[in-house]
Amino acid sequence: MSRKYLIAGNWKMNKTASEAEDLVGEINTSVGSQTTVQVCVCPAFTALAKTSELVEQTEVFLGSQNMNAESSGAYTGEISAEMLRDLYVSFVILGHSERRQYYGEISTAINLKVLAAVQNNLKPIYCIGETLEEREAGQTLAVVRQQVREGLANFPTNAIEHLVLAYEPVWAIGTGKTATDEMAQEVHADIRQVLAEMFGESASASVRILYGGSMKPDNAQSLLSQPDVDGGLIGGASLTSRAFCGIVEAARALS
Ligand code: PEP
Repeated sequence: MSRKYLIAGNWKMNKTASEAEDLVGEINTSVGSQTTVQVCVCPAFTALAKTSELVEQTEVFLGSQNMNAESSGAYTGEISAEMLRDLYVSFVILGHSERRQYYGEISTAINLKVLAAVQNNLKPIYCIGETLEEREAGQTLAVVRQQVREGLANFPTNAIEHLVLAYEPVWAIGTGKTATDEMAQEVHADIRQVLAEMFGESASASVRILYGGSMKPDNAQSLLSQPDVDGGLIGGASLTSRAFCGIVEAARALS
């Protein structure tokens, strides 16, 4: 089963709509017409509409960093799947560790968002990963397995090709510390095993599992060459076109 690499940039709470214009312009010029690797940018909500216009005529996909599980109603400050679809958003990052850490999101609640996303033709990028304490206590695989099982409960097997997972060890996010290639591969292979138990071997083989945590142009190629690493969710390095496109080029070289 060949899985196309996906390189997704998570801009977090950075870049106004006008700043997005510069960055996306450079990304479009550099990698916006190639289709070997799937490229996605995930701006803040306020820059989605502008970015949507900027990528419209390109091969770059648009992603959101969050959404609400409800379709509409009295949820002040929230954004629905339908609102994202209206802006031609394709992917939505769900359960990022910063949402878990600062906003109390837990896998069972994130599960409702994952299901709402796929019901609305959005591709969820469901994030999972252990803290440093959990790794040091030897709990990595148990923690990640539980996050996968809870977050993907009742996911429709017939929509499995729309599912993307991102393994992001919390201790590697924004810290400059990266999981070794072997650490990443071990967890990715275990995640694929859980997916096989939940959805069957062939479904599991079709799901892309991204690595996230201080991925940069200089470590991207060795991480991406691991058999179960199917792309990257990029934070800090997605804020400059040079670093972000460098990672896309690393993936292209392996494709
Ligand atoms: C992230 O926030 O998803 C991430 C991987 O961040 P960074 O690349 O900065 O570690």
